[in-house]
Amino acid sequence: MLNSRHYIPVAVFFLLLAMGVYFICTSNDRAHQKQQILLSHLVSAEAASIERRLSLSLSTTYILAQEVRRSGGNMPNFDQYAKDIIHWMGGVSNLQLAPGGIIGQVFPLTGNEKIIGHNLLIDDKRRDEALLAVKERKLTLAGPIELIQGGVAVIGRNPVFLNNDDSEQFWGFASALIFLDELLKSTNLAALEAKGYRFTLEKKEEKTGLWLQFARSKHDLAHESVEGIVTVPNGYWRIKLSPGETASSLWSLLLLAIAVLIAALGAYLTFRILLEPVKLRDLVKEKTKALEYLASHDVLTGLANRRLLQEKIDEHLQLLNYTNELLGLVYIDLDDFKRINDTMGHDMGDLLLQEVAHRIKGCLRTTDIVSRLGGDEFAILLTGLHSKNDAEMVTRKVIKALSKAVKLRHREVVVTASIGITMGPNDGLLAEKLLLNADLALYASKNNGKNQHMFFEHQMKQKMVTMLDIEEGVREGIKQDQFLLHFQPIVCMNSKKTLKFEALLRWKHPTKGLIYPDAFIEVAEQTGLIVDMGWQVLEKACKFVSHYTDLNQQALSVAINISPRQFLEDDFVKRTRKTLAENNVSPEHIIFEITESMLMKNVNHALDIMDQLRKDGMIFSMDDFGTGYSSLAQLKQLPVSYIKIDRSFVMDIDSKKEEPQFVEAIIAMSQKLGLDVIAEGIETQAQFELLRGMGCKMGQGYLFSRPVTIEQLLQDSIQLKQPLADNR
Ligand code: C2E
Ligand code: CA
Ligand code: CA
Repeated sequence: MLNSRHYIPVAVFFLLLAMGVYFICTSNDRAHQKQQILLSHLVSAEAASIERRLSLSLSTTYILAQEVRRSGGNMPNFDQYAKDIIHWMGGVSNLQLAPGGIIGQVFPLTGNEKIIGHNLLIDDKRRDEALLAVKERKLTLAGPIELIQGGVAVIGRNPVFLNNDDSEQFWGFASALIFLDELLKSTNLAALEAKGYRFTLEKKEEKTGLWLQFARSKHDLAHESVEGIVTVPNGYWRIKLSPGETASSLWSLLLLAIAVLIAALGAYLTFRILLEPVKLRDLVKEKTKALEYLASHDVLTGLANRRLLQEKIDEHLQLLNYTNELLGLVYIDLDDFKRINDTMGHDMGDLLLQEVAHRIKGCLRTTDIVSRLGGDEFAILLTGLHSKNDAEMVTRKVIKALSKAVKLRHREVVVTASIGITMGPNDGLLAEKLLLNADLALYASKNNGKNQHMFFEHQMKQKMVTMLDIEEGVREGIKQDQFLLHFQPIVCMNSKKTLKFEALLRWKHPTKGLIYPDAFIEVAEQTGLIVDMGWQVLEKACKFVSHYTDLNQQALSVAINISPRQFLEDDFVKRTRKTLAENNVSPEHIIFEITESMLMKNVNHALDIMDQLRKDGMIFSMDDFGTGYSSLAQLKQLPVSYIKIDRSFVMDIDSKKEEPQFVEAIIAMSQKLGLDVIAEGIETQAQFELLRGMGCKMGQGYLFSRPVTIEQLLQDSIQLKQPLADNR
């Protein structure tokens, strides 16, 4: 595109050039004028000098004519007389007398013999001037002409008339011949030519009016010349003078070239000067662009960041006013990304995130926008949708793309994602609202067990608010020591005597009363508050064991539920040992109830922990058996002493809904492996009898006792090894 940056230098170029040309022209003009003046001075000087020389030379004919008249046409002393005249006057080559037009005498004769007897009135070349001279009765000039005897010369002829009484009679001619060379020698023309001037000498031909050149410099006249007129008898000569052409025109050319150069330089400089701010602006533009990119993109993946995403959502929400289209906002959170980061290192984590970004992009149209919100969270803005199904379809595509194993150096990892989707404008008219909704939907799908997608629903918000309330309450509760333990007996199925207790957590809320684990364990687990809570539980359980032992002089065992998060803490073994030691509790009196999922999270690490504590004498129990993934065949590999059959199996055992074979198989298998089985949640006599019949040795449930407070336990001064059924 041409703009002022281009026009201005061009204008400057022409302006400077015009100025240069003007300068050259005016200075040329002035030089020219000066030269013209000088030339005209020179020309008039030369013309004058020719005129003077010529008239001086021609005056010899008058002297000669006078002598002819005086001698009555008879001049015996012609030679001497002519010699004297030539000597005095100079400039004349020879003098002649031609009585009756026929040349009779010449001085000097030597070299001019050929012209003797030549009739001037007959000769073609000489006749006209001769006749004219007679007719006009005055001196005429002939030539310049080629001489018979050689050379170029002018001849002045003076007609001589003799007085014969009262009439005058033509006698003949007294002539003087002047060699042109001689004539010109008297001028400065040769000297001028030596200085480079050029000249021509011309004579006007009477008959034709044309100028005939008869002398000239070696070189042609320059284009412009100055002329001067030389008045000669019976006619005019013209002298033209010019300086040598080449020098001045070359000089002009040189000046012009310099002017072009200066103009070009000026234009270039202007261009550069004009370019400077443009360059600066471009640089600033470039830098600003880079900054803008940084401010709106994620460095690792090159995807849009949250800020840009928000802008784009607002933009597209505006556009929705004019169409019936919908937009979808999809939040994606990788499941267990932290674990990959922790175990494989951050570099691998970064590679994984880049691959995920790449795969997500591959599922979308160019008009859709992918953004990395931070960590392992991504968001997609889907535009131009017509229904929820469209969003669902794309989401499934993304899930499929992500489900393929990712190769990181030499290892392959499989990632799953939890996804929350919200639709605009139905779910919200502002970007913030949609972002919040997508977050809520994502949170819900995570809470629902991860590796799934959920659409936003309005009640999610209430749920979320409740969760946040719970989190805050739990946090405060831990600080205020609002958590306490209830204890539920585990009894012998044969004697119904209490063998040990399971410690179960209760929250004594200052306003809401007693709250059961179902209402807060999940939140505590998700927020990590469970860890602190778990250590409090162990502390309280130990205190109970030691207190009870002191009181009854009898040891008792307490089973404690361990959260996966607490179990996988780095200092789990160390802190467990420390707590037990501080409370003076022997490890064999504490049973840790763990779940299969806890083992599965990081098998080697879990086995290592269990190994260490088992060496101390501590006992492990597999809680909720049957709900997880481990098969019966895997039982023997589990480093546990008890298996607790989940309440859900016990519940259905007498309902005829479910075949009891599964429970029976667990019990039989465990016995073979030397593992004890505890049946959870026995509520009815029928359940109790069925289980006892299957060989189950231990049971726990409302049939025997509900979980009770320590006070209750102690007040009732429960006698261990006594049936506890009446105390529920
Ligand atoms: P769980 O480990 O399976 O605990 C047994 C649950 O079954 C207890 O519920 C208990 O009150 C209940 N229960 C016992 N007998 C019966 C019965 O005959 N019928 C019925 N319907 N329920 C019976 P609770 O105390 O509400 O605890 C629920 C869950 O909370 C526990 O399940 C456990 O997973 C978790 N939990 C409880 N205390 C703690 C704790 O201190 N730490 C951790 N991490 N989790 C705990
Ligand atoms: Ca339990
Ligand atoms: Ca259980």
